[in-house]
Amino acid sequence: MNDMILLKQGEMVLKGLNRKSFEMRLISNIKRRLARYGEFDVYCLQSAVYVEPKDENCDMDGAFDAVHRIFGIVSVSRAVACEKDKDALFETAREYLGGAMRAARSFKVEAKRSDKSFPMTSIELSQYVGGLLSEAFPETAVDVHTPELIVNLEIRDNAAYVHGTAETGAGGMPVGSNGKVVSLLSGGIDSPVSTYMAAKRGVGIIPVHFFSFPYTSEMAKQKVVELSRLLGDYCGRMKLEIVPFTHIQEEIRDKCPEEYSTVIMRRFMMRISEKIALSNGCKAIVTGENLGQVASQTMEAMGVTEECISLPVIRPVVCMDKSEIIAVARKIGTFETSILPYEDCCTVFTPRHPRTRPRLDEVLEAERALDTDALVEEAFAGIERIDVSR
Ligand code: ATP
Ligand code: MG
Repeated sequence: MNDMILLKQGEMVLKGLNRKSFEMRLISNIKRRLARYGEFDVYCLQSAVYVEPKDENCDMDGAFDAVHRIFGIVSVSRAVACEKDKDALFETAREYLGGAMRAARSFKVEAKRSDKSFPMTSIELSQYVGGLLSEAFPETAVDVHTPELIVNLEIRDNAAYVHGTAETGAGGMPVGSNGKVVSLLSGGIDSPVSTYMAAKRGVGIIPVHFFSFPYTSEMAKQKVVELSRLLGDYCGRMKLEIVPFTHIQEEIRDKCPEEYSTVIMRRFMMRISEKIALSNGCKAIVTGENLGQVASQTMEAMGVTEECISLPVIRPVVCMDKSEIIAVARKIGTFETSILPYEDCCTVFTPRHPRTRPRLDEVLEAERALDTDALVEEAFAGIERIDVSR
């Protein structure tokens, strides 16, 4: 049977003149993401996206699972094409959705017709096919208000399609349609979620991790590699940038007041991230900071942290409760990896009494003990890049 995948575009249908470029971005994202499941024809028609296998070797189950994680799509269905004829539509529905019809207690038929030359109205077609299906499956009741199964019939220009109840897609906008950012990925629970949320808004991601070997272990690094790989199902292909951070942390420990070490360390993260961003055409920096969660995440601390750079800092999870962040982490499959017990560089030289309301003038004074530019250059020059695509 002519099995295919039918997707509905999300918000981008509102984009007017830009719509074409959004669609092209979505199509190329889908093609790239499905490449490992076989060869597919992917094209847009009337705010729907059609994904058709080119041959028998395509892994349709794998492809169908993967499209649930591609941003820019609000609903996904497995569908089958057939002739634009009322009896062909019934036969196709009976055969293709037979299992679902027998399993459901109730059903209704919903016909849509964008090809207005089709000789019946949508209501007439729904009634016709609904009547025949109810004779063919007498155990399944018709329920037009809260049916368990919706038998969708779509009469489009190129063909007719039959599909069951559509499943919810990933939402958002196609990754890459809203530019690129550097996203700070620590290996905790929050930053994979903030990275996912930025990508959902159509942003391409360069994940950056600050690594303090040997204070943090090779296992801690592998954990971030694994998190990036998991995020790749949503964010697409990414290169993880690992920044050597040990020397900077030692310098801060040796030369700066302990109570200011965290905020000074975070300012270094910002400077280096901005440098990576500018050399890759990124327009912002994303972090998993969350208001009031720890001493370095008061408003005062965030203000002092971002003072040393000029790119905007986007904090997608800033006002979420931890339980809400964890719910997203579970949904996207990063939670179990995030809670593996490896140290992050932030926890290595944690001050006993960090300043929760740091003063910028005092921070600037404390930083005078460091050769900031040289330290930033040295870390930047030592970056390791890891391709994290599957
Ligand atoms: P997470 O759960 O993401 O680790 P957190 O609550 O532990 O966040 P912090 O450790 O204070 O918070 O870090 C705040 C944010 O700073 C992180 O969400 C992340 O964006 C960034 N960050 C912290 N440590 C690192 C690191 N080693 N490499 C890259 N980014 C980091
Ligand atoms: Mg952390």
